[in-house]
Amino acid sequence: MNFQTILDSWLRIPNKSFHRDSVVDHDQIHCDCSGLIALLFDELQLKKPYGLDRPKAVHYFALLQEIGSDRIDKLLPGNLLAWRKNQLPKSGDTGHVLVIDDVPVEVAKHRFQVSVVDATKKANGLSRRIIELHTDDSEKIIGVRLHLSGDKSDAKVKRTAIYHHPLVNSRFCWGCGLPSRVCNCSAIEVSLKTPAIVILRHPKERKRTLSTVSLIKQRYPNVLVLEGEQFTPLRIPNLALLFPSDDILSEQGEGNSDQTLILIDATWRKAKRMLHLNPWLQALPKVSLSPQRLSDYLLRKVSSDENLSSVEAFAAAANDRVLAGALKPFMDKHIQLMGEDVYQRNYKNHLNYVDS
Ligand SMILES: [Zn+2]
Repeated sequence: MNFQTILDSWLRIPNKSFHRDSVVDHDQIHCDCSGLIALLFDELQLKKPYGLDRPKAVHYFALLQEIGSDRIDKLLPGNLLAWRKNQLPKSGDTGHVLVIDDVPVEVAKHRFQVSVVDATKKANGLSRRIIELHTDDSEKIIGVRLHLSGDKSDAKVKRTAIYHHPLVNSRFCWGCGLPSRVCNCSAIEVSLKTPAIVILRHPKERKRTLSTVSLIKQRYPNVLVLEGEQFTPLRIPNLALLFPSDDILSEQGEGNSDQTLILIDATWRKAKRMLHLNPWLQALPKVSLSPQRLSDYLLRKVSSDENLSSVEAFAAAANDRVLAGALKPFMDKHIQLMGEDVYQRNYKNHLNYVDS
């Protein structure tokens, strides 16, 4: 049975409600947004994100951010679409996840309406309805109006990063976010206790086959990754900039425990540009890792003009040997994926390059 047939049959069930614990049988379906998607994944026998039994919206988002697109022209029926809250609450909503039901229709400049299937409190569980997506000049989706009717607070446009990807026939594994051919599922123990580190990623990094951030997510699926070149200042107290570069390694001390560190995921040159574009980042206290601490985690030679790979910096800052130890097998998978020749040719000067 394909997923549309499944959703249609569920939509015909008379007894529906919005509930944290999901149940579906012939005469009732109770679920919340992520519960609905988990039921669908089970029905389609897809692996669920990061091996989690009951992933939340944030975990579908984490996967979609790696494998999906943020463009409106790529949005098709059957795509899974999600967004997340930057700061996750202890319980309750972490964001939203839904299935696209039809092609988006442009209703005004930068405004598209699209039919979706999702489960919301307002609709009392599973329903088919219309939402509105907002875009910028480059066709990138930058916001959403989740309810087109209702009071003002409900109907307002939420500005947030949104990603989507076809639910079925993807070449990527839904369990780990890697191409299925080099699936890395169960290679690393998952932890929902996320270190206080936020990743700011240059948009070009995500397109790399070799984004080591997908490995960090396999370890910490709740980790916040924001993508862009320019960022509005984060509303998180006690921020510091982690700068694992040789340049300033000796100038600064290590951070204290209640700080939230910002890690820039970009090539050295692009990281400098991002600092230039974001004066608030430059103004933050800088934290670097002591040479001793770094060498403990350094798995390979780092060429002198590039900084560490993000996963190494993350592992060292979080003092996490499990993550550090998972890098080598992860890189081996990538080499396997693209072939040794291509790897040598394309990545020799990149920060993720390893001598194999
Ligand atoms: Zn996998």
